[in-house]
Amino acid sequence: MRYASSIDALVGSTPLVRLNHVTEGIAATVLAKVEYFNPGGSSKDRIAANIIDAAEREGKLRPGGVIVEPTSGNTGVGLALVAQQRGYRSVFVVPDKVSADKIAVLRAYGAEVVVTPTAVEPNDPRSYYSVSDRLVREIPGAYKPDQYSNQNAPRSHFGSTGPEIWRDTDRRVTHFVAGVGTGGTITGTGRFLKQASDGRVRIVGADPVGSIYSADPSQPDQVHGYLVEGVGEDFWPGAYDPSVVDEIHRVSDAESFAMTRRLAREEGLLVGGSSGMAVVAALRAARDLPESAVVVVLLPDHGRGYLGKVFDDEWMRARGFEVEATDALVPAGLQ
Ligand code: PMP
Repeated sequence: MRYASSIDALVGSTPLVRLNHVTEGIAATVLAKVEYFNPGGSSKDRIAANIIDAAEREGKLRPGGVIVEPTSGNTGVGLALVAQQRGYRSVFVVPDKVSADKIAVLRAYGAEVVVTPTAVEPNDPRSYYSVSDRLVREIPGAYKPDQYSNQNAPRSHFGSTGPEIWRDTDRRVTHFVAGVGTGGTITGTGRFLKQASDGRVRIVGADPVGSIYSADPSQPDQVHGYLVEGVGEDFWPGAYDPSVVDEIHRVSDAESFAMTRRLAREEGLLVGGSSGMAVVAALRAARDLPESAVVVVLLPDHGRGYLGKVFDDEWMRARGFEVEATDALVPAGLQ
């Protein structure tokens, strides 16, 4: 019989799939590593498993322990899934701007969610940061993974994402492209691929316009808000090692969202906005490469969580983004 011993054993070993339509005019092979095949639906399942393994080894998490992390997104899902399989409770602290759907997903996995007000100062006792710190102090057996500084995050990509790409491309990968959020993915995967290839593989970052990673340090007004989720930052986290990255591309929300919609319609890949952003950077990097080049671009999560945003025409138009015309096959009045 062939089966997994439990759902968390299915984290990793995600497939590579060739992009065939959005790559028009490009000679190189562009392969997408589709991380929504992870059981929790994103690349963050990898770090959850690795962070919990390390915390158990180091005695920071013991039977009956509680995982406490300020997160609303993919990291929360990954941690909730791995935590329940290992018998730990999980508590996530989220700001009240987070969508009801995301909170519902975390609760569906059995996690407890504490909602905090967004409109207070960080040092206010009700703030996101204050509440999570207080819970860690007050809950017996609490453990806070802190994905922004936890070195087991990049390590998990060094140990899994990197080797999978090296193996599945038969060592022919020439470029690796990923968006930068905490930086764990690009740091760990990039470090592995550089080492394995003696520095031959070029590591390409993608960063939203407005984020600190690709902003000119002499132009502080280049750091501002943006809409693509899960990537970019307004501070430098410890999980990111910029020395691994050879080039970084700035991508606008408009470009990221247009590409995200094309990936769904043309490649059958329903993925989130940060995937569209990474593909824009991959296509820029691949533009002048020869046929022999093999560009691998990582698509971090599924598009289901963004149906009311990137994939919603009204949401897009209300924010000034162009929406492609759809052919009207259905007579007006029946739509
Ligand atoms: N895209 C999405 C949707 C994410 O949730 C994340 C994780 N924050 C990333 C990209 C970036 O990954 P990393 O934090 O490893 O840089």
